[in-house]
Amino acid sequence: MNAPSPPPEDFRARAKRALGDRNLKIALDRTTGNARTKRAAAVAAWPAFDRAREAAAAIKDHALQNFPYYLERFERNALASGAKVHWARDAKEACAAVIAICREAQAKTVTRSKSMLGEEIGLPHALAEAGLRRVETDLAEHIIQLAGETPSHIIWPAAHRTREDVAKLFAKHHRDHLLLTEIEAMVASARQELRDDFFAAEVGISGANFLVAETGAICTITNEGNAELTTTPPRVHIVTAGIEKIVATTEHALQLTRVLVRSATGADLTQYTTFHCGPKREGDRDGPEEFHIVLVDHGRTQMLEEMPEMLRCVRCGACLNHCVVYTKIGGHAYGGAYPGPMGAALTPVFDGLMETRDLPHACTMNGLCKQVCPVDIPLPTLLRDWRAKSFRRGFEPRALKLALALWAFVASKPALYRAALAVALPLMRRLGNNGWIAKLPFAPGWTNTRDFPSPAKRSFLAQVRSGEKKVGSGEKK
Ligand code: SF4
Repeated sequence: MNAPSPPPEDFRARAKRALGDRNLKIALDRTTGNARTKRAAAVAAWPAFDRAREAAAAIKDHALQNFPYYLERFERNALASGAKVHWARDAKEACAAVIAICREAQAKTVTRSKSMLGEEIGLPHALAEAGLRRVETDLAEHIIQLAGETPSHIIWPAAHRTREDVAKLFAKHHRDHLLLTEIEAMVASARQELRDDFFAAEVGISGANFLVAETGAICTITNEGNAELTTTPPRVHIVTAGIEKIVATTEHALQLTRVLVRSATGADLTQYTTFHCGPKREGDRDGPEEFHIVLVDHGRTQMLEEMPEMLRCVRCGACLNHCVVYTKIGGHAYGGAYPGPMGAALTPVFDGLMETRDLPHACTMNGLCKQVCPVDIPLPTLLRDWRAKSFRRGFEPRALKLALALWAFVASKPALYRAALAVALPLMRRLGNNGWIAKLPFAPGWTNTRDFPSPAKRSFLAQVRSGEKKVGSGEKK
């Protein structure tokens, strides 16, 4: 008889394991540190960034407020350009549509350029189940395909891997088995490895950064040129795109690109910004004979009702790079397709709040994610809303509910609150040593891995009352 499989790890277990992984820390520090420096320099070099950010949020809101109009307009124009448009209500329908097109094309090999929507709907798994050979063509996706992993960052899927790891992977899996040390040599090795597949694939699958309603074109922005090689040589090009990618005009797509790219990589523009509009026309030297666009809902119309701001997300990854939680535990600990603050807000929509309620709790509410978001998504507010929903729906543990009820009771009665403080504060001060408490008896979760600050000698209220502290200034007299 087979031994029962161990229960799946939850977020806490995954996060704990990640915190003990030194290699992961090195990889994350390199990638996110670099990203933060480059973004800061790009924003400093463009004084109009804040205005562009406001405009970007307004562009997305305009498209979302007129969602049906622009989606229908996009479909009409895409059909007129010769594309075939497929609507998918959920992940299952989206994967089924892609597989049906691949079967119709009698495909054996499909190339794929990076698409987080593909991860969200489980497309890699669906392609494998359908017996199709999938070749990931983005360099980082190529790395994680060799490693048998999933992406850990929405811009740099292999952010959890150091270059030393990658050298070993390439030495093991690439045909020439060389242990390379220079990044340029590793890139050349991957290019050589992938080159034949670009031309052998019958179908190329891409995502879309924008769906342009006025033309019916889809826009991809990449740095490696692999999206162009994925979408141009094969006979069939399939685009999978979330319906929130809709924008009214090409001008709007370009305006969004300017804040998206600066927020993602710190560059002014990506190396490749391509508008794909319909299949190859008579006289064209290259391009696909068939051009399919699979428009995926998968919870987005529900989000339009419940958290419309999240549909502004342009998947730049800035909130991940600046998150004090993501930068310590990496993406895999989150357990869904999307990690970091945006993942903590999105994953409950896709996987259910009950199963993912730890994610919104894994936030310090420092607000940096909102500050760097190029479309001003109030991520801390959205995460707080999830926490409140989880509490109202009864998903929180009994002990937490009791503790919060007790807190609310005490905090709403000033005399009782002061009396409780009069007992608790001296006790806590006695536990402290040099201003820090090493172990709190009733809250070990706080002090297992870090110290807790001892309370000040006199409470804030007492200092204000005596005039020692002024409210609002924080300064002493
Ligand atoms: S939430 Fe904002 S910062 Fe985070 S990925 Fe989306 S657009 Fe970028």
